[in-house]
Formats: sequence, C-alpha cells, structure tokens
Amino acid sequence: MKKTVRVRFAPSPTGALHIGGVRTALYNFLFARKHGGKMLLRIEDTDSTRYVPGAEQYITESLHWLGIEIDEGICFEAPEGKGPLGPYRQTLRRDIYRKYVKQLINSGNAYYAFDTPEELEAKRKEIPNFQYDASTRDSMNNSLTLSAEAVQQKISNGEKYVVRFKVIPNEEIRVQDIIRGEVVFNSSIMDDKVLYKSADDLPTYHLAHLVDDHLMEITHVIRGEEWLPSVPLHVMLYRAFGWESPQFAHLPLLLKPEGNGKLSKRDGDRLGFPVFPLEFHNPIDNTVSSGYREQGYFPEAIINFLALLGWHPSDEQEIFSKEELIQAFSLERVSKSGAKFDYEKIRWFNHHYLNEKSDEELYQLFRPILETKVEKISLTKEQILQAIALTKSRCTFVADLWEQTDFFFVPPTEYDAKSLKKHWKEGSHQMMVELLEILQQSTWESDVLNQTVMDWIAQKSYPMGQVMNSFRIALVGSARGPHIWEITALLGKEQTLARLQKALKDIAQ
Ligand code: GLU
Repeated sequence: MKKTVRVRFAPSPTGALHIGGVRTALYNFLFARKHGGKMLLRIEDTDSTRYVPGAEQYITESLHWLGIEIDEGICFEAPEGKGPLGPYRQTLRRDIYRKYVKQLINSGNAYYAFDTPEELEAKRKEIPNFQYDASTRDSMNNSLTLSAEAVQQKISNGEKYVVRFKVIPNEEIRVQDIIRGEVVFNSSIMDDKVLYKSADDLPTYHLAHLVDDHLMEITHVIRGEEWLPSVPLHVMLYRAFGWESPQFAHLPLLLKPEGNGKLSKRDGDRLGFPVFPLEFHNPIDNTVSSGYREQGYFPEAIINFLALLGWHPSDEQEIFSKEELIQAFSLERVSKSGAKFDYEKIRWFNHHYLNEKSDEELYQLFRPILETKVEKISLTKEQILQAIALTKSRCTFVADLWEQTDFFFVPPTEYDAKSLKKHWKEGSHQMMVELLEILQQSTWESDVLNQTVMDWIAQKSYPMGQVMNSFRIALVGSARGPHIWEITALLGKEQTLARLQKALKDIAQ
C-alpha cells in the first residue's frame, strides 16, 4: 500500500521568515495537497543562542496570511500545535531525544566526547585542517579512549560533554534526490558531528530533525539546497537507527536579481524590495525589516510569483490560482539551478491580481486609505466605485488608487506648471470661456457633450489637443487622468463648471 504523503516545514525561530523559506513552505504545501497528504509545521528551536522572541508567531502569521495551510503541528489557529504526534516544538521533546541519543551510544554509532574548547583549540593549532573524525578521535578525550568507569565518573561529576556520531570513513554514500538525481558523497569528508550537548540537554539540528521526521512519519523531506551537504550524515543516521529514510528533494537557491549569489536582505535594501512576507520588528537588535504585506502586495501575487521561482509548468502559463498550482505542481519540474529573484515581476503579478478584484472589493480596501486622505468624502459610494473602475488598470497597489483618483475628491488648488507650459497656450483662456458657455447649455450626457464640443472645435478650427488638455488641466490640475468625458460624468455638471470657472480665474491668461 502506498504511504500517505506527509511533508513538513521546519523553520527555526531565528528572525523574520525569509522569502526563500516561504517558497520552501509553499512547495511542501503544494506537494502535500497535490497528493492528498498532510502538511506539518515543526518549530526547530534547539539553538537557544539564535532564538528570537516573536519569530515563531511571525512565521505562523505569515503562512496564515499567505494561505499556506498547516494540517498538523504549530500554526496560526493552534499556536501550541495540533495533531497526534506532538509536541511539535523541539524544546518540548527533550525526553524523546535523550532516549535516541542513548540508543546510538549503546549501538556503538555515537560516543561521549569531553574535550574542552581549550583542548580542541590546542588540537587545531597542532594539526593543520584538524577534523574530529576517524583519523583523530583516538587521540581525543572521549568514551572511545577513556575507560567506562572514567566516563561514568565524568558524567556523574557533571562534566560537560557532547555526543558525537562515529562516521565510518571512506564509504561511498549514494543518495537519490528527486530534483538532483543521484548524489554521491564520500564519508571521509565528514567529521564526527555533534548530535547532542549536555550543556543544554538538547540535541543539535541533525539528530533532532531526523528523530522528529521519523516519529512524525514524514515521507518526503523538501528543503533548501543548503542542507544537501548534510544528507550523507542523515543517511548514515537513518541506517544507524535502522529506519527507512524519507525521500529527499533539495530546492534550488533564490539568487540575487543579477543572478550572482544568494539573495540576501541587503539586496532588498539596495534595490528597494522586501525579502520578508510581513514587516518584522526584531527585539534583539531593534531592527525593522519591511514586508510585502505592509507594502500593499496581495497574498495571491506572492504565491503565484514564488511558485514560479524554481518550478516551471509544462507550458507558458504564468497566472495560476492556488488550486491550479496544486494541480500543476510536481517536484520533477523543479529546476536544479538557482532562480533569480525578479522583483519587478512580483509587481506585475500584483497589478494582475488587483485588476482581478471586483470594484466592491477594491472599494473596501481603498476606503480606509481614503479616510486618512480627506476629512469629508464628497463622493457617494457609487461614484467611488466608478472612479475605481476607471482607474484600476493603472494601479499596482490599492494605495495607487489615491494617486489616480485624488482629483475627484479634492478640486485642484494649483495647476501643474509643466502641464500649463505645454498646453495652456495663447488662446486657451478664450477657448475655455467659450467651452464654459457650451457646457452650461448642454445636457449632461457624455455622448451629447462630446458631439457638441467636437462640432464647436471643428467649426472654430481650434487645435483639439490644446482645447482638451486645457480643459483637463482645469478639472484635474494637470494633464493626467482617465478619459475627459468620464471625468465630467463623474464630477457632474455643477462641479465641472465650478472647476472651469475657477481655472479661468486662477490661471494667468
Ligand atoms: N530548521 C531547519 C531550517 O530552518 C530545517 C531544515 C530542514 O528542513 O531539514 O532550515
């Protein structure tokens, strides 16, 4: 029988969740959903020196906002974790790990090491490129060189120790990676990794994640490429425990927009884009990192963008809903090489998803912004909806709606010098006086207005561009905005005439 797919996202709460981590979570999620499996979230907090308060909540809130749903473990709705195989926070699993550390020692796969930092330093000075491994372990202060009594004595004296994995040298380790194919390592390059530290009574990442993956019945480990060099150790550990190893898929790096090297926060600062989903206030170093949410990006845009950063569909399709991604996603179509972080593209997606929204939805999002801009909103909801419909195709963010529609709410108090220079020329004043009269007499229907004004322009042989742009400047304050008759329709007769009259008064002839 085929096993139910179970995958996990296993972040360490060391700060804001990097956008590369978000992509890892997303690929795990898509894979789980595609195969009708489960998506877990486990918090890997064994390194107390790197712990940042608030980081865990930040992670769960980010995933929740993005719609990356967690079936088991720690999540936004269940901060203490849900599911039968918990606890899902590693510092709550000490008892479990202790048992497995013992097991490795008893089976001869691991050993106690008492070397002090000073002793290790001395060795490093003595032996060039010192590595704690088969070539050196017999000359060190550990349970392989000490008698069983001496070891017991040291432990009962409370001497600090670590437990190291006993790597068998010169063995070829072959690993099948779903994305990379077969990867071969020689065990001689590996040192006897520390698996456990008595000082904090906690295992290190290597042991902790592996025990957890086993007990939590993880079938596929999908994670960043930076973990690939650790895989031979993990394979040896699975073997030492006699456990079946999950399948591996190591995702390509996210690269700088220029393509040279790993994407970092500094690239974002340098080029002006966030590398985190939400804004984060780090209480340790008091830094604030900007987030996509606060900058006005939609979760759908980020998901669509990230999905295509390393994975590609079988055709040219670019716009994918979450459901479509689940259908189309496969690890086989994830590339081996790094993916350039094309931050302009995410704006393009945002523009797309903004225009997918109904005017009503945009109204709900725009209204709070509007309230900060004008004291009294002079337009009805109907009119605001129209203003949105007229201008949304020019917007990337909801906040852009204000730049595009401000003149509907606030009549111009001054007129853009550049626009005036270009369009308000000799004769403009007289043309506007005549136009005012025509408008006063016309019925207020765009078609009628258009026809009447066009006839008048033709009859007088006025330059069309000058007339229409001067009129626009009078209504808007500059030469921008949607179609002129759409503006007049929304402003209404009274407001249009008032603005034209004011411009005639205020703009020098
Ligand atoms: N805690 C590790 C990290 O934050 C998890 C790596 C893994 O998925 O095995 O990168």
